[in-house]
Amino acid sequence: MLTGSCLCGAVAFEIEGPARPVTACHCGQCRKVSGHFWASTEVPRDRMRLTVETGLAWYRSSDFARRGFCSRCGATLFWEMDGDDRISVSGGALEAPTGLTLEKHIFTRWKGDYYEIGADGLPHLDEY
Ligand SMILES: [Zn+2]
Ligand SMILES: [Zn+2]
Repeated sequence: MLTGSCLCGAVAFEIEGPARPVTACHCGQCRKVSGHFWASTEVPRDRMRLTVETGLAWYRSSDFARRGFCSRCGATLFWEMDGDDRISVSGGALEAPTGLTLEKHIFTRWKGDYYEIGADGLPHLDEY
């Protein structure tokens, strides 16, 4: 079981079973919402259970998806596509040991111009 929370604890959750390897997304939305790029895992929605949700708020970030965040501390937590049964969850919100590894960089053509993606040997995908 994985557990995670926002910075202040007003949102916390548990994940049952395996989670996808972590993906670093460099798209413009993930950069704006996270402050740099957004690293997330993904799990079936029915395997994630919110244990504290007093702070949880949603922002409709596009016409097909919304982003969950903590309205108290501002932590970026979730990304959810309409009609999909999966949810993306911030890697940084998870408690160690996660057992997960960073797998790839995506949407790198939209990365910020102030950094290079490190020589971590992982695939860089222009889009997804
Ligand atoms: Zn919080
Ligand atoms: Zn993104």
